[in-house]
Amino acid sequence: MNVPLLDLKAQYVTMKDDLDAALLRVAESQYFIMGPDVTELEAQMCEFLDAKKAIGVSSGTDALLIALMALDIQPGDEVIVPTYSFFATAGVVARLNATPVFVDIDPVTYNIDPKDVERKITSKTKAIVPVHLYGQSADMEPIMAIAKAHNLKVVEDGAQAISVQYKDGKKVGTIGDIGCYSFFPSKNLGGFGDGGLVVTMDEELGEKLRIMRVHGGKPKYYHSMIGGNFRLDAIQAAVLKVKLPHLDGWSEKRRENADLYTKLFVEAGMAEGTGKTEYDANNKVLLPEAVYKETGHKNYHIYNQYVLRVGDKRDGLRAFLKENGIGNEVYYPVPFHRQDCFSYLNANDADYPHSNAAAEESIAVPVYPELSKEQIEYVVSKVSEFLNK
Ligand SMILES: *Cc1c(COP(=O)(O)O)cnc(C)c1O
Repeated sequence: MNVPLLDLKAQYVTMKDDLDAALLRVAESQYFIMGPDVTELEAQMCEFLDAKKAIGVSSGTDALLIALMALDIQPGDEVIVPTYSFFATAGVVARLNATPVFVDIDPVTYNIDPKDVERKITSKTKAIVPVHLYGQSADMEPIMAIAKAHNLKVVEDGAQAISVQYKDGKKVGTIGDIGCYSFFPSKNLGGFGDGGLVVTMDEELGEKLRIMRVHGGKPKYYHSMIGGNFRLDAIQAAVLKVKLPHLDGWSEKRRENADLYTKLFVEAGMAEGTGKTEYDANNKVLLPEAVYKETGHKNYHIYNQYVLRVGDKRDGLRAFLKENGIGNEVYYPVPFHRQDCFSYLNANDADYPHSNAAAEESIAVPVYPELSKEQIEYVVSKVSEFLNK
């Protein structure tokens, strides 16, 4: 059996006519950059995310970059980021000649550890960038409290978490000052190329982001600020408008797939349940959990990635799954504090035990909405077969 990590074609065929019509409509309009499709998408996103302002941008990376620019992050400022995330989270900080300051993660949710955030604050700290990794909210309540106490800005990296809810059903991205999303094709809401979105509850900041998206000129060619070309293409907006009404349904399917994985791993005697942290004879695989232990907050997890922990068998398991036609990936093999490009920061490796362990022990297996029950059963049987060897 073949189970790819992601099967975009399986999604495309379910809505091919609508998507093809949207593409043709853009071709016939010859309106390629911004325009009415982008404006309509932004309005729909405001409503969907309960945000005051939504501004379509060129990618999730650019969403993070423009957010930090709009918050006036300056060279030498410190910006706190989890060390365990996609590269862009830290890359954008360094691109502004600000200093990324790395913090460790919660060992169960893989999200930024608020206690470590507090430890890393200095007089130079200007902002925190919590990441809602794999599709579940970072623990925003303590992070917002820390930000308030120290007068820091908060930029939420929600690239993997569009439509994710924190406690009380609040959508992530609208809790901090600016929320950032990506429409990269592998994200839960993916375009036909690069795209992104920033959202904010602050009207003035929204206006600033809108101006900075087009080089910072207002009126055009008159610059009181420096922005960039952060525009979203009409083709992406047209595609995303077709897909948006399906997003909640896809998230539900991903959640059902995750629940099925849990049930099958438990039935196979491979795990006692979710959220375990120790390997033993009854827990050969550690399953993802959507609850914060300290606060008991249960998250609405949308599983952009379904990540297992298998200890030192990880690399062997990867090869075995590949041989058996099962796609898998490691998100992420090298935390930021171990990246060559950040060696100048002289981070102490021993400060990041949970991120280091996650990088060494974790493996993402297929969880996309169109998976069949048989495919999930097959993945569980092959993972179990290898770990029982
Ligand atoms: C994908 C991703 C980004 C970057 O988004 P792009 O659209 O690929 O530029 C940033 N942060 C995280 C956590 C991501 O997963």
